[in-house]
Amino acid sequence: MMPLFGAVACRQSGRVDQEAVQNTVAARGLRMTILAAPGDPRVGPVREAIAHWNSELRRLGRRVQLDSGTIRDKSVPDEAFRAVVPEVMFGGGPATTRLRERLSAVPGDIVIALSETDLISFGIPWRGEGTGIVAIRPSDKPPLSLPNTLRNVVAHEIGHVLGLRHNSDSTTLMCGRPAPCRPSAFASDTPRFFPLTASDEQRLRQRWP
Ligand SMILES: [Zn+2]
Repeated sequence: MMPLFGAVACRQSGRVDQEAVQNTVAARGLRMTILAAPGDPRVGPVREAIAHWNSELRRLGRRVQLDSGTIRDKSVPDEAFRAVVPEVMFGGGPATTRLRERLSAVPGDIVIALSETDLISFGIPWRGEGTGIVAIRPSDKPPLSLPNTLRNVVAHEIGHVLGLRHNSDSTTLMCGRPAPCRPSAFASDTPRFFPLTASDEQRLRQRWP
């Protein structure tokens, strides 16, 4: 009985392994880099937002996942991120080009920079590559000090890098300019992520087959 049992077990585990290998080959893993000072309290909510995106991508059957994020020292000064803010609505400009050059030495597909100085949080996809940059403002004062706001702002900005644009529905994750949605709209005493719209989901299906 033992040899037979052993052979069956081997065949079963062989089949499982083969499926796992096929899934691994089919899935794309995006490497996340978090530029943060040691002990930055925003790292936890950033990782919650990353985990939320993985659950959304799985729910939608997309073959892309984000890793949980490697924390690295901030080798790029806040000023380089602040300079990009006026260019975000145009999708780029000289400061954005300079920032991208500076970040070329930073490993990772999506870089999330936790700024120590005030700026408007943003997320920019680098054109056509599934990569990009997110910058997040300090969370020790409003709006990001409001409960439930930081995790949703990070998820919103990652959404831009994954290819999503703004809508005008203030009950959803990607509401933003020109609609009057602001980060404070995410404030809630109950921790929760705001949902995607049907058109966000359609866009993700096209962008991440
Ligand atoms: Zn936005």
